[in-house]
Formats: sequence, C-alpha cells, structure tokens
Amino acid sequence: MTRPAVDAFALSADMLPADEAAARLLDLVTPVAETERVPLVDARGRVLAEDIVSDRNVPPHDNSAVDGYAVRFADLSAEDETRLPITMRIPAGIVPDRPLAAGEAARIFTGAPVPEGADTIIPQEPCRADDDTVVLPPVRKAGQNLRRKAEDIGAGDTILAAGRRLRPAEIGFMASVGVAEPLVRRRVRAAVFSTGTEVRDPGGDAPPGAIYDSNRFVLMGLLADMGCDVSDYGILPDDPAALKDTLARASAEADVVLTSGGVSTGEEDHVKPVVEDLGSLDFWRVAIRPGRPLAVGRVGNAVFVGLPGNPVAAFVCFCMFARPMILRRMGVAEVLPRPIPVRAGFAFKKRAGRREWLRASLTGRDEDGLPVAERFPTEGSGILRSVVVSEGLLTLPEEPSAIAPGDVLEFLPFERLTG
Ligand code: AMP
Ligand code: MG
Repeated sequence: MTRPAVDAFALSADMLPADEAAARLLDLVTPVAETERVPLVDARGRVLAEDIVSDRNVPPHDNSAVDGYAVRFADLSAEDETRLPITMRIPAGIVPDRPLAAGEAARIFTGAPVPEGADTIIPQEPCRADDDTVVLPPVRKAGQNLRRKAEDIGAGDTILAAGRRLRPAEIGFMASVGVAEPLVRRRVRAAVFSTGTEVRDPGGDAPPGAIYDSNRFVLMGLLADMGCDVSDYGILPDDPAALKDTLARASAEADVVLTSGGVSTGEEDHVKPVVEDLGSLDFWRVAIRPGRPLAVGRVGNAVFVGLPGNPVAAFVCFCMFARPMILRRMGVAEVLPRPIPVRAGFAFKKRAGRREWLRASLTGRDEDGLPVAERFPTEGSGILRSVVVSEGLLTLPEEPSAIAPGDVLEFLPFERLTG
C-alpha cells in the first residue's frame, strides 16, 4: 500500500474552501416533493409546503384590552371626574346591538367588541360605579385600551410562507386564523451508521483496544431534533464488503445517509472507495479544522455524508455541512445559522487558509457591550466534553494566521446549530 507523500493535514490545492464545500453539498439536494396534511397537534417541527393566507381579520373587531367602560372621549374631561349613565353591558363574545350614543358609558370586558361610537376604554380600577352610573377619572388621551380590528392579521395577508419550520408560535398563529390541517412536506428519512472495528455499542463489552460508539447517538439525536425519520444501521467493522452491503441498503431506504469514521487516507479507511463503487464521490477534502476529511457524494437517490470519526469533528461537520443540506431537503427556506458578533477573549494561532472552529462560551461583555467569548482550553477533536461544557462554536475565518484578544469573531450558539 502506498501512502500519500504529503502530510495528510497539509493544505493543498485540491482542498475545498469551507463555503464552497457547503455550497456544493446544498446543490446536491432539492426539497422532498411529497406533502401531506397534518392536524395542528402533529405539526410541530414540520415544514410548511404552502403559504398560509388568512381569510379573516385577527382580531375580528375592535375590542377592549381591559375590563372597564367604553366611552366617547369627547364626553370626558381632562381635569375633572365625569359621571355617565351605564346603558349597555358587553361581555366577551357578544356583539353590541347598537352604537354607543353621546353621553353614555358601556360596561365592557376584556376581548369584548367595542360598540360603534366608543373610542376609548377606561379600565375599571380608577372608576366608581353603581348599577346605573359610573364616575370616570379625568382622561387626557383618546383611544386608550382598545385593540384594533386586524392589528395582528388582516384578511388576505400571507401570515406564513412555504419553507417555514413550524414551532409552537407558528402553530398558534395558524390556529388563530382557523387553519386546522396545514400542508407540510414529508419527513426526510435519514440513515446512520458508525464505522470502525474498534467501535462497540454501549451496554456490551469494550475489550482492550475497543471504544464505545458515541457518534451514532449524537447524530441520531441531532437528526431526530431536526424532525427527520431516523434509521439506525448500527456499527460496521472496517471491512469493505460489509460497508458496501449496508450502504446499499441504507441508500435505497433513506434520503440522506450519514456515517462516521473511515473516510481518511489510512488503509483501514474503506468508506470512500465503497461510495465510489456504489455511486459517486463529490469531494472529501475540505480546508477546515476540526473535520478534515469529510466525504460527500451520492448513492442512488441518497446523498451520502461521511463524517470524520473523531467525535468533535463529526459533530462540527454535521452542524456546518450536513445540517444545512438536510434542512434544504426538508424544504426549509432559511438553512444557514445566523451568527452573533463577539470579541475573542484569548489569543490563538491558526493556519492561514483554513477555516477553524473553536468550542467556546460567552463569559461577559466588553466596554462596547459586545459579548466576550472564551475558548475551551484544549483543541483535541476527540474531546466530546468540550461540546458538553461549551455554549457554541466560534468561527475563525480563513485569512488570518492568528487571533488576538479583542478581535471580532462570529459565534454560533449550539441552539442555532441544532434542532
Ligand atoms: P477514523 O476517522 O475512523 O480514523 O476515526 C478517528 C478517531 O475517531 C479514532 O480514534 C476512532 O477510534 C474514533 N471514532 C471513530 N468512530 C467513532 C465513534 N462512532 N464514536 C467514538 N469515537 C469514534
Ligand atoms: Mg476508523
């Protein structure tokens, strides 16, 4: 077996910049075509396949924001109390049968339609009332405590666009216009397996030389949190025949196949040739750290992402590369996470020309109010504890060869990289 003459971690011309790798991966997929209608209770985490257009105003009528008295501002005094007769009583759910005339007050409750003619609601607390009359305090401003018809949603408004992920607020928003069964895309099917003769399932033995599989559990959790249907293909030894058989089955069943380990250049790394045998490899060398190598290709209709074996590298590459691609396949409109500008609270040497990500946490704020990020002290891409105790990833851009304290960098909290 010949080994490459160059250092496996040296930068070379055939290494893709991170942005180009991410763009090529996105270009491999289109949104799943199949859609279905689901009841609102089952819609959480799904992706809208249609624009939701409201056929009504929300609120449907001007209504009271408080329990109190609906009046005409012109009847009130700015300096003195005003006594008015109570001529109507309007609980929520009842539409007043006539306008409020000049010189009248209506007893009104939160959410109840405001009678025509009334323009101001006085909360009950500063008022004194008996059965027939109310004494209102001095009032200086018209239009108080009134919620306007259509102030949330107007009839004909597109309230949510196709491609939106449905969280509880979006589901409530659809409910508020009476939509009961939104059209969503079918779930993306993801298959996962780990590779490595040394890798064992927790619960069983780990003899000398063996390690327990952590990647598969991280990846299955990340995919489930995204709303994918996840199939577990277990752990495969570093054996081309076994890999080929399982990859063939997984790619026939799933939209995306994710593996970890076995994508480097060692003689025991068999994943790339098997992908080329069954399908095609698009790229596998990316100028990043942690993470290189990352193998991307196609097998049948499935997109294949071979993540590195090192647990931190697998996690980072999933978040930065696999997740946006899977979101696009899910039909999500916005697939890239939005970073937060922060200041480095540390000095760090990196390699120019390579994008690097550090596990980091926000520890305070500098004089201009920008959050300050501290990095997890060790870089090792096998140290999963660094992900557990950190708050997110700090992106170190390609160009510089060092980061100095005070440099402004982009921080991605884990909540924006997962789910
Ligand atoms: P590889 O990419 O196969 O060369 O693996 C790189 C490192 O990651 C090796 O130390 C492996 O033992 C380790 N590794 C590979 N797969 C897993 C896994 N599923 N869980 C935990 N560590 C792994
Ligand atoms: Mg391996």
